[in-house]
Amino acid sequence: MSTPTSSAIETANESGFSLKDFLSSFMLGELFKGLALTGKYAFRSKITLEYPEEKTPLSPRFRGLHALRRYENGEERCIACKLCEAICPAMAITIESEVRADGSRRTTRYDIDLNKCIFCGFCEESCPVDSIVETSILEYHGESRSDLYFTKDMLLAVGDRYEPQIAAARAADAKYR
Ligand code: SF4
Ligand code: SF4
Repeated sequence: MSTPTSSAIETANESGFSLKDFLSSFMLGELFKGLALTGKYAFRSKITLEYPEEKTPLSPRFRGLHALRRYENGEERCIACKLCEAICPAMAITIESEVRADGSRRTTRYDIDLNKCIFCGFCEESCPVDSIVETSILEYHGESRSDLYFTKDMLLAVGDRYEPQIAAARAADAKYR
């Protein structure tokens, strides 16, 4: 007759159902432990939010939807230096420009393909005139890839609409820049 090996005995001991386990199960010990934990947290302040009615605070540095800004007189800030296009690691920005009759240089085309964008913020950091910025807007979507191709007019429209928020976010972050 063969004798059990030491490893077989160890395995049986590990998986064995002890008297303590039996009593704990019989007395619903695990259930009461769970209820105690629930009771402990039931009356504490909640760390979850009812999104979208409630929102978490966002940093002024939050990198959301892009916008092109204007000066107060309505002139576009962008001087078509193309630094943002050059630095974009995703090659998501396409710019074409021309020199106006008054000698100033402005874009004739400024597109961002948000399908490619990785929201790194390099375009914003590189801009010498605070023209291209990333706003705190995060609730937008597209139903096709073309919906996420933002043209100059669309980017300027975002900037026009959210300029107070953009200016406030930049003012809040100014001392760290
Ligand atoms: S956030 Fe980054 S990836 Fe997106 S457009 Fe700007 S530089 Fe390109
Ligand atoms: S958005 Fe800024 S960095 Fe990009 S082309 Fe215009 S001025 Fe230059």
